[in-house]
Amino acid sequence: MKLPVCGEEQVIMEAIRNNTVVVICGETGSGKTTQVPQFLYEAGWSHPDSDNPGLIAITQPRRVAAVSMAKRVGYELNLPESVVSHQIRYDVTTSEKTRIKFMTDGVLLRELSQDLLLTKYSVIIIDEAHERNLNTDILIGVVSRVLKLRAELSREDRAKIKPLRVVIMSATLRVSDFTENSTLFTKPPPVISVNARQYPVSIHFNKRTPEDHVAEAFKKVSKIHDRLPEGGILIFLTGQNEIQHLCKLLREKYPSLPPKAALEERKRIRQAAELELKRDAAIPGEESDSDDSDSDLGFDEEELVSTKDGKWEYIYKCEYGKFTYTISYAAPLHVLPLYSSLPTEAQLRVFQPPPEGTRLCVIATNVAETSVTIPGIRYVVDCGKAKERRYDIKTGVQSFEVDWTSKASAGQRAGRAGRTGPGHCYRLYSSAVFDHDFEQFSTPEISRMPIEGVVLNMKSMGIDNVVNFPFPTPPERQTLSKAEKLLGYLGAIDTDVKHITPVGQAMANLPVTPRFAKMLVIGNQQDCLPFVIAIVAALSTEIAKARRRLMRKKYFESQIKHAGLDRSSDILKLLNVVGAYEYAGATAEFCEENFLRSKAMEEIRKLRWQLTNLMAALFENVDVWVDPKMLPPTKRQIKFLKQVITAGFIDSVAIRKDVIENGGQGGTRFKNARGVAYKLMWSEEEAFIHPGSILYSQEPPIALVYNELFKGATKTCFKGVTAIDT
Ligand code: ADP
Ligand code: MG
Repeated sequence: MKLPVCGEEQVIMEAIRNNTVVVICGETGSGKTTQVPQFLYEAGWSHPDSDNPGLIAITQPRRVAAVSMAKRVGYELNLPESVVSHQIRYDVTTSEKTRIKFMTDGVLLRELSQDLLLTKYSVIIIDEAHERNLNTDILIGVVSRVLKLRAELSREDRAKIKPLRVVIMSATLRVSDFTENSTLFTKPPPVISVNARQYPVSIHFNKRTPEDHVAEAFKKVSKIHDRLPEGGILIFLTGQNEIQHLCKLLREKYPSLPPKAALEERKRIRQAAELELKRDAAIPGEESDSDDSDSDLGFDEEELVSTKDGKWEYIYKCEYGKFTYTISYAAPLHVLPLYSSLPTEAQLRVFQPPPEGTRLCVIATNVAETSVTIPGIRYVVDCGKAKERRYDIKTGVQSFEVDWTSKASAGQRAGRAGRTGPGHCYRLYSSAVFDHDFEQFSTPEISRMPIEGVVLNMKSMGIDNVVNFPFPTPPERQTLSKAEKLLGYLGAIDTDVKHITPVGQAMANLPVTPRFAKMLVIGNQQDCLPFVIAIVAALSTEIAKARRRLMRKKYFESQIKHAGLDRSSDILKLLNVVGAYEYAGATAEFCEENFLRSKAMEEIRKLRWQLTNLMAALFENVDVWVDPKMLPPTKRQIKFLKQVITAGFIDSVAIRKDVIENGGQGGTRFKNARGVAYKLMWSEEEAFIHPGSILYSQEPPIALVYNELFKGATKTCFKGVTAIDT
């Protein structure tokens, strides 16, 4: 009830009743995500007998948020997950009883391709719109059209189809791309801003910007924990590896339980003090029972008041009174990681109060920037960077890069320290770097990302002219036509009229990128579909363990082993790995011995099942099941699989440079691929086979397809190479 957004309930509900589109802006933590769906629910929306019987949908850019917010709202409304449900890729709790549905925006986009009118829903809440995610942007564009259609149809026959409402929610006031964009919404939608009480946050910049922000974060957290009063610490780092590393360092330094000696000391101090208190409190003549058991020495009667100079001060209460005492030991730090690929239960732990007497310390990616609010944070440590997917529009090279975030993001991060009281934000970079190297706002994702999957999805919704689509920020025409071109090569769209083909339509039903979808769609020949499914599942997951140099030789041996008979494709090697893993009983030991991440292998397994079920459900003529003891492919099948792979990567072909220069004839003989240059098709770029490929140590093929192009410091390399039989 105390959440700022609750004070605006009337205003919000009235605006939603009177307008088809409403924009709500409010600081992170003000209650938008958890409360607005409840306002609608309590006002009768989604009730079968009401005027708005359709479901209440809330979209989230992140899976973590969709799941945790559904759980939270279900808890607040005291309703089971069959009523307040979530749907993310491969995880659904919806039922016939569902009234409120949290989902990722990708899921809703996919639903749109099945039902352009979104007839199931009465209101769509698009959350985290300030993030300017690609999916969110597309959704807003499509939904602006759906609104018009639903309005027209309901004017014709309101009994049959009801109008749709849209609520766009943002953590910042920067919403002009939505409100002042007349191609999107002809009439500017009303903007409701929720005034959240934000306590002051003192910002502290580092004097110098360190090279290693993880080490710097470790130092900073140690200082805060040793010297500053209680309050949770939230640390922003860029990714899983950094987070796990810092978790380890902090857990080593500050064990989650106090050291034994400190516990003993505490017990001794308390017993002595208790005796004294007891003596003072004793009523003359009354028996004093001296039960010396330490069962009452739990943390629960104790209150941590403040910490100074590495000492922890407690108030201890017992039945004879209370006293304060100080102990100097490194107090326990309750260290928790938070990133998207963490299992849901582990993610939800950050919302629980830490064990008493310990300090909460959450190490997160930018998921904690605005999507989820962690209670009790008073200190924020911000490395100032974030990992972003980058995409080279010319060459198609894709990479994850760590770079400075924007000033707006840094402001959001700092704000996390001021939710429950005044706080502090420690920025691990200098104010000069902030002033000069930080952009004002992050660039909308649509201006940075490959969008062939989304373009295919848009095509399957009947949006042929993607160039004129009402994007909040229209992407460059070049990006759009590149996506169309790839879809044309894959046979997903007609190259003349740019309309989706039957193959494309089949592909659009599959929750994988268009090239994988193509492989699945054409893979149902010569009993090869189970192999293709396993390949796609493996390609969607990063399975190799980071390995040290020393391990190299052994690693290569295991690689060769997995390549089995065929050594002409890294992707077929992957298939063998998946097969061997299942054959060995899918054990963690197998992964350990073969340098595989067991979590990734489990993920592949899950994906194989899901894709198999999906293929069987989607295509009538498909008869597949998951065979745990899948036999390796035959020679004929290998040949076919390589054709399937080539079809999927048809735009990623490379030819040996020496052969091209020789007019297509023989070329030089090489013992291995070291230094052998390839020319990329449809580009002037040159690249080399990566030393990690099984094709590296043999005569390099004349033509190949590659799965990934990686830009190294000195040269560009192929990864996931398959030789084309010439
Ligand atoms: P917004 O969407 O405006 O950022 P939310 O609705 O997500 O705000 O959060 C409102 C409040 O509810 C926050 O103070 C947050 O701490 C609390 N909250 C959200 N999820 C949980 C949860 N799973 N457990 C405990 N508190 C939560
Ligand atoms: Mg929110």
